[in-house]
Amino acid sequence: MQNKKIEIGYRQFDNLAELEVSDQNLINRALEACKTAYAPYSNFPVGAAVLLDSGEIFIGNNQENISFPAGTCAERTLLNFVHANFPEKKILTMAITATNSHSHNPVTPCGVCRQVMVEMEREQDTDYRVLLHKPGGSTIEFSGANQLLPLAFEDKLKK
Ligand SMILES: [Zn+2]
Repeated sequence: MQNKKIEIGYRQFDNLAELEVSDQNLINRALEACKTAYAPYSNFPVGAAVLLDSGEIFIGNNQENISFPAGTCAERTLLNFVHANFPEKKILTMAITATNSHSHNPVTPCGVCRQVMVEMEREQDTDYRVLLHKPGGSTIEFSGANQLLPLAFEDKLKK
């Protein structure tokens, strides 16, 4: 038997101005995406934005449904769109935010979205940075989606 430990490293920025301009821009796009979220049931709009290696930015948001399980989170709305339309392009950075959160901390992705984020990362063979932003507050940066879900489910058939 061995005792093992998993460490998760991340960087925290107290103000948006501390981030690179390109990251500020991506976060602002995620904030904008909250405005068109369809969240009448939770009143919890979430916005996400990705920067691709082509320089393009795409946004997504949560899309709820009266049949609750039919709704999708912002992260999966966006990643599934990007993977469906640009499977050959790589994600460099993903920003996620929520404009009506009561937490003092940045919103974090749910477990299902983390699994999808990790698979997208594995699929493109390179990590992408994840920025979690609290409007008017702090931002935390992970060097890869895998940092958000240690021991993520995987199947060794691929690669
Ligand atoms: Zn989710």
